[in-house]
Amino acid sequence: MNSLTWKIGKALAIVSIGLIVLLFVFQVQLLEPMYEQSKIATVKRVSDEIVYRLEHEEDWSEELYQISLENDVCIRILGEEPTNMTVGNMGCPLYRINSFELIELISEAQSEGNASLSKDHHWMAPGGEMKSIVYTRILENESQDVVMVYSGISPVDATINTLKKQILYIGGIVILTMALLTLWLNRKIAKPLVEINASAKELSNGNYVQVQNANHYLEAEELNETLIQAAQDIQKADQAKRDLISNVSHDLRTPLTMIQGYGEMMLDLPDENKTENIEVIVQESKRLKYLVNDLLDLSKLQSHQIELHCTKVNLSKLVEEEVKKYLIYQQDGYSISMDIEEDLYSSVDEQRFRQVINNFISNAINYSTNNKEIYVSVKKKDSNIRLEVQDYGQGISKEDLPMIWDRYYKVDKQHIRVQEGSGIGLSIVKEILDLHHAQYGVISEVDQGSTFWVELSIEQ
Ligand code: ADP
Repeated sequence: MNSLTWKIGKALAIVSIGLIVLLFVFQVQLLEPMYEQSKIATVKRVSDEIVYRLEHEEDWSEELYQISLENDVCIRILGEEPTNMTVGNMGCPLYRINSFELIELISEAQSEGNASLSKDHHWMAPGGEMKSIVYTRILENESQDVVMVYSGISPVDATINTLKKQILYIGGIVILTMALLTLWLNRKIAKPLVEINASAKELSNGNYVQVQNANHYLEAEELNETLIQAAQDIQKADQAKRDLISNVSHDLRTPLTMIQGYGEMMLDLPDENKTENIEVIVQESKRLKYLVNDLLDLSKLQSHQIELHCTKVNLSKLVEEEVKKYLIYQQDGYSISMDIEEDLYSSVDEQRFRQVINNFISNAINYSTNNKEIYVSVKKKDSNIRLEVQDYGQGISKEDLPMIWDRYYKVDKQHIRVQEGSGIGLSIVKEILDLHHAQYGVISEVDQGSTFWVELSIEQ
């Protein structure tokens, strides 16, 4: 791949060479034919004007001189008096033309449909130095008047030679300017990019040294800022990864230590081979299984490996069923009440949505304090169904609120939970609700409690 400087240089060189060639073609090659064409057009136009006046106007012959002067032509009219005349520069060959030559021109015009353009007759430019043209037209009136318009064509060879020299100089100047421009653009455009690139190579290590240059153009500045942002994001992601590993290891170690401890104890002391101890091992193994399952679930959801299987579901019924599973906690002092509007349907993935409700309710139980009331409601709100799970527990502070949906974020790391929690429940909930395109959120105040809510569009 070519460097930017090379590409800029190449583009500028092509443009300048193109311009010089264009200049050469028009100024040198086409100058003579274009000049001749314009002269031919003039004699034809003048002849048209005279014919028109002859046919439509009277007493205009005075203006003939003016016409010849303005167009730098010489005019001869052969007709009845007073229009039989020759007007123009005294050197004009139309004054000197003899009757043979006249007849020659007229018969040429006759043979070409009453109008002909004659070039370079020997009598036109006696010295042979100057090219010239005569346009002869025969009128279709009774007296068959003849109009002849003559124009000399000045030689342009000297002009062309001058132009050739000029183009040579212009070419040299343009090429030099383009070379300087390329160098300048290289400094302006390529250099900052090279510097930023060199610095960006450090990015994978999370290091990005900001390239300092006051003369950066907007795009380079933006690229610089994007890379700074990327470096910060990489650092954050790196930190999050480290946190995750340390949190997961911590949560895995606790049950593993218990399992190992109880297992060794039962091995060493046959008397300890009791059902309660085996139950601890089973309980801790379950905890491990929950944690591993949740981690797998989250990773699949985040990498979009899980597809929803949405069907029309009676949400009222579904929520009621899930809440009923928790009524057993009433014996521990929890009061779980519900206010569910009947037969509200929505299109959801049933299993995944049960996961969401379970998470909200088990969190409500886990984070309740003295007031152990929990209130679940499902109601119609405009064209949506709104589900709310409210508790009167410890609540969440304003700073922590946005973070609770992040995996492994725990407000109170020491909190002893009534229910098992992997610490990533809400991150799973977030992924599931996002996949459902649901609206959701939490309203919470410290020591007052929290209300987790979800809104889904209603299915009729
Ligand atoms: P955990 O297993 O820790 O409960 P979650 O992802 O379910 O994990 O919740 C993340 C964090 O959000 C919790 O650690 C807790 O700090 C906070 N949280 C969740 N629900 C509630 C609630 N109802 N009341 C107070 N804090 C809550």
